[in-house]
Amino acid sequence: MADLPDKSSAFIDWYLAVVEAAGLSDKRYPVKGMNVWTPYGFLARRQLDRVMSREIEATASRPVEFPTLIPANEFQKEGEHIKGFDAQVFWVTKGGSTELDMPLALRPTSETAIYPVFALWVRSHRDLPLNVYQIVNTFRYETKTTRPFLRVREIHFFEEHTCQVDEAAADARVRSNLEAFAKMAHSLALPFVPVRRPEWDKFPGAYYSVALDIPIGGVRTLQIGSIHHYQENFSKPYGISYETPEGNRKPVQQTTFGLSERLIGALLAVHGDAKGAVFPSEIAPYQIVIVPISGKGADGMDAFIGGLATRLQDRGLRCWVDRSEDRPGAKYYKWETAGVPLRLEIGPRESAAGTVTAVDRLGRKGSIGPTDLEAGIVRKLSEFDEELRKRALATFQQSFATATTLEELRNSKHVRVVPWCGTEACGHAIETAIDGSLLGVPESDLPIAVPAPGLCVACHSTGPTKWALAGQPL
Ligand code: ZN
Repeated sequence: MADLPDKSSAFIDWYLAVVEAAGLSDKRYPVKGMNVWTPYGFLARRQLDRVMSREIEATASRPVEFPTLIPANEFQKEGEHIKGFDAQVFWVTKGGSTELDMPLALRPTSETAIYPVFALWVRSHRDLPLNVYQIVNTFRYETKTTRPFLRVREIHFFEEHTCQVDEAAADARVRSNLEAFAKMAHSLALPFVPVRRPEWDKFPGAYYSVALDIPIGGVRTLQIGSIHHYQENFSKPYGISYETPEGNRKPVQQTTFGLSERLIGALLAVHGDAKGAVFPSEIAPYQIVIVPISGKGADGMDAFIGGLATRLQDRGLRCWVDRSEDRPGAKYYKWETAGVPLRLEIGPRESAAGTVTAVDRLGRKGSIGPTDLEAGIVRKLSEFDEELRKRALATFQQSFATATTLEELRNSKHVRVVPWCGTEACGHAIETAIDGSLLGVPESDLPIAVPAPGLCVACHSTGPTKWALAGQPL
């Protein structure tokens, strides 16, 4: 089996090779950018869906599912939004051989599917807040090069849509989404920075947009999600209004929160290494793989392995026993490439003693048992997650550096933290210098310790500046 390309010098080649070697997606389906979820990839996606659902439902959001097709007249009600998506929409124009009276859009995102119905659901202030989410596939006619999980034309998508009583409540919902995402990110061992996008880069139709960004090596960044405050930009054209306690009608204030299968790509990009994928245990399709090592005196080994696997599954752990014909070495290689957090090697000696040899995906080896065997395995998994988080955080912090001159931006080997006066002209000067984007101003503490920001990196104005982030989004 060939070595993977080098992650730091050939990131995209490495990434594509890892997706392939780990068996997460099959891109040979005959529609560009529409890939097949393999069994292993689907199991990872199911865990991701579980974590997203759990954390959003903990903030009083409820699941819904709206239809995939959106009538053209509804799709075109909000001007900015349609301008932003027009070029990316797949249209259904025929039913059989009959031209449809009203063309139907395959949803690129679901505002225009959901809001005509929100207008029916929201009548009075007692109906607010209305917080719902769905996990569905969306479709975008992507013209750039497609990459599994990172940029595809059929996207496995999480979207929360809410209606709030006023602007302050909508702001509070944005905060609540950020807190919910922080919990998801903890499960994913994924350090991130929430960044308020500049005016010229916000979501089509949004009042403001907060993107969730991660560094993925050098100047490169990856947007792994976004939260938007719409104010009344959609509720007015869609007629979503409520009766106040005083008997007046007011448009609702709206927010959305979007995540996608890109999070799986982010896990590969952040945690993966020269051996392949590395999954945190919450998302790993299998958390534990047992590799039997047969030899002399193997009587009873099968029963020991079967019993242990059952007890681990009874504890809710995802455990796979690799009984294939491959040699143990080939199995180690396969499951390391696939990113399984913990491998248990069990031979005649281990089974006789009631122990296992455990090797985690970070290469740390030890013996567990015979007493408290299952508890010891669970402990090993949580130690693995802690170490993965620690390593990811260290890499995250090393990914940022300040730049106080345009020259430093031009020679960037990091995502840059720059003092910015807030004007669009200076924003574009920063973008030209780094040959990328001004990501915006962080909504949380900066990822690295910095002094108060000095003069704007572009215009050197003596007016107030803020630290902003600049990088090259993938
Ligand atoms: Zn400036």
